[in-house]
Amino acid sequence: MMATDLLCGAIDLGGTKIEARLFDGAIDTVQTRRIPTPTADFDSFIAALGDQIAWLCEAAADPALPVGLALAGWIDPATGNAFASNIPVTGRAIGAALADRFGRRFPLLNDCMAFAYSEAHGGAGAEAEVVLGLILGTGMGAGLTVRGEFPPRLNGVAVEIGHVGMPARALAEFDLPVWPCGCGKAGCMERYVSGTGLAALAHHKLGREVTAPDLIAAASGGDRPSARVLEIWADLTAEALLSLQLILDPGCIVLGGGLSNMPDVVALLSRAFDARRLGPITPPPLRLARFGDSSGARGAALYARAQSRIKPDAEAPAIKGNEP
Ligand SMILES: [Zn+2]
Repeated sequence: MMATDLLCGAIDLGGTKIEARLFDGAIDTVQTRRIPTPTADFDSFIAALGDQIAWLCEAAADPALPVGLALAGWIDPATGNAFASNIPVTGRAIGAALADRFGRRFPLLNDCMAFAYSEAHGGAGAEAEVVLGLILGTGMGAGLTVRGEFPPRLNGVAVEIGHVGMPARALAEFDLPVWPCGCGKAGCMERYVSGTGLAALAHHKLGREVTAPDLIAAASGGDRPSARVLEIWADLTAEALLSLQLILDPGCIVLGGGLSNMPDVVALLSRAFDARRLGPITPPPLRLARFGDSSGARGAALYARAQSRIKPDAEAPAIKGNEP
C-alpha cells in the first residue's frame, strides 16, 4: 500500500472542460473526472473548480492532497489575478476565492510552464539543463525550466512566443499577408504556426477550407499541394524555433499539443530548423513530449507535490550552521 502523502492531483482549466486528474506516487494517472467549464460568471466557475478539488481530495482520502492548477492564461504574481480568453476569470484571483472554501492555497501555473516542468522531470527533456516546452495546439505557447525549476518571472508571463511577430523575411518569402490576431496585434506567430494557423495557411494556399488533420492526412497520402503547405508550415515553425533558440538557448525543445502528433514531425521540423540556423550555431535537439496530452496536468501535480514538501523554516538550520 502506497503512502497517501505520495499521491497528488492536478486540474486542467480549459475553455471547454475542467479536468481533474489524480496521480499515484509514480505520477501515473489513477483517476480522472471531467466537467464542462461554466462560462457564465466567476462564481459558478469557482464553485465547479472547488467541486473538482473536493473530488480529488475525497478520491485520495486526503484533505491536504497537493493539487496543482494549470491554466491556459496569464497569472499576475503581484495580485494573483488571472487573465484567460475563454474562461470567466479575467481580473479575478482564483487562489483567494478557493482559500475561502479550503483554507489553503493551490499552486496556479500557466499550462505551458506546467508542460515544460513535466517534461523536465522524468520526461523527454530530463537530461537537459534548460528545457523549453513548445505546445502547438489550437493556440501556441511555451514554457521554460532551468535545472528543473522555473526561472524567476517578474511579471508572470510564460514564454509567449505565440504573440511574437512572425519575421517579415518569412512572410515575404512565402508571399503571406500580415493576419490580425485575437490578441489585438497582427502577424503573430500563432496565426501561422498553431493548428488554426496551419488551417489558415492551407485555406490561403489551396483556396478551400481544410482542417489541419485533413491537410496532414492528404499530405501523408501523397497529395503534393498539401505536402507543400506542410513544408511552408515547417519553415514558419522553424522561424519560431530559431527565435526561441536565439533568445533562450535551451538544451532541448520538447514538442506537445495536437500538431506534435503529425507523422514524422520531428524530422520535418529538424530539417527546416537546420536550414534556417544562424551561422555555425547548432540547433538544439527537438523531442516529442513523453507524457502526451496529460503532461501539463502531470507537471502541475509534480510542482504542487514539490511545494508541499518545502517547510517554511527548512533553511533556518543551514543559515545557522554557516555562522562562525
Ligand atoms: Zn497575437
